[in-house]
Amino acid sequence: MKKVSILGSTGSIGTQALDVISRWPEEFSVCALAAGRNIDLLEEQIRAFRPQLASVAEERAALELRRRTADTPCRVVWGQEGLEEAASFPQADIALNALVGVAGLNPTIWALEAGKQLALANKESLVCAGEIVMDLAAQKGIRILPVDSEHSAIFQSLGNYPNSAIRRIWLTASGGPFFGRDWEELADVKAADALKHPNWSMGSKITVDSSTMMNKGFEVIEALWLFGLKPEQAEVVVHRESVLHSAVEFEDGCVIGQMSPPDMRLPIQYALTYPRRLPGNWPRLDLFSVGKLTFCPPDRQAFPCLALCEQAGRQGGDRGVVLNAANEMAVELFLQGKIGYRQIYQLCRQALDDNEFTPAPTRKQIFETDAKVRRQIRRLALAD
Ligand code: NDP
Repeated sequence: MKKVSILGSTGSIGTQALDVISRWPEEFSVCALAAGRNIDLLEEQIRAFRPQLASVAEERAALELRRRTADTPCRVVWGQEGLEEAASFPQADIALNALVGVAGLNPTIWALEAGKQLALANKESLVCAGEIVMDLAAQKGIRILPVDSEHSAIFQSLGNYPNSAIRRIWLTASGGPFFGRDWEELADVKAADALKHPNWSMGSKITVDSSTMMNKGFEVIEALWLFGLKPEQAEVVVHRESVLHSAVEFEDGCVIGQMSPPDMRLPIQYALTYPRRLPGNWPRLDLFSVGKLTFCPPDRQAFPCLALCEQAGRQGGDRGVVLNAANEMAVELFLQGKIGYRQIYQLCRQALDDNEFTPAPTRKQIFETDAKVRRQIRRLALAD
């Protein structure tokens, strides 16, 4: 039986991971859960999955949760120390990092340092600290198991071939809710519009990132690190149906891709069971109903965040940290109605221009840059 620690258990990926786990009681047990503020849901999860440890972001919430779950054997902890305990929980065989944002970076490092198998949904870990994370994984002999559907598709398509067999990857993008609009037509977009994704149901930050295509750009950077690729080896292609989740072109010209209905439970289950496959009791792909699949290039004029990420991927160094911090802050302000939709790009662009390039930031520098850029963005946005 595999013992799993889930970081971000109350979020979109976290709840779907628990759904997968609940289908396989003889395969998995949950030993630790970590969440932010949603103690109502976390309490339900503690009762349903009986973990030994649960962590929340703040002390007050932890004390309340402790009171509510006093009749269970679960120990409730909080803050960064609590998160570290959950990420490196001694009994865990595998940690699933489904935290959102740069808040997921330290837990990725803690899990790897503790020698845990790591199922990684938190792409920001690789966007901000790809080199540090991949070096640590290599040092510990750990192969990071991707949860993001595109990276899982590449991982599955690659099979037992080494990364060096890849000529290029095709990263598919749904195009999001604003596919077909031009830059001018995006001026009046409101949060409610950006939160309507055509094919996937996800947390609010990644849903907005999908609409700006910043998410696809982050996925490009994530893929470069995960598969050791050069920037010119990653090609983004818009595929509205979200059936082909990405593909690998090998040296001989053969292209192998992975198809399934758009359901995150499949890549989550595969990361948890790798290298095994267990039956999936969810909707199946029926190629007769799919009929046809379409592909076209992304519109980088209307969705300039994609080009910003591609540029950051080419430059490396601290560009991912700057871009991610600016984007996290800008998306938060947009969701609060404090800035317009197109300002997300404009503020990210400005953050990249205003911050000097650091070629190989340390972990300390990454967090310092993150904090500095957030302050800058808040100042710039609220000065308008
Ligand atoms: P959600 O916003 O739905 O969930 C985020 C989770 O992180 C919640 O459990 C939240 O807790 C917790 N959390 C947030 N901040 C903290 C903190 N400071 N300390 C502890 N816990 C915290 O995000 P998603 O599930 O959508 O995405 C998670 C990650 O997976 C992202 O990196 C995203 O890019 C990636 N991903 C997501 C996909 C999806 O389909 N959703 C697909 C592919 C990748 P709480 O709610 O209790 O406050």
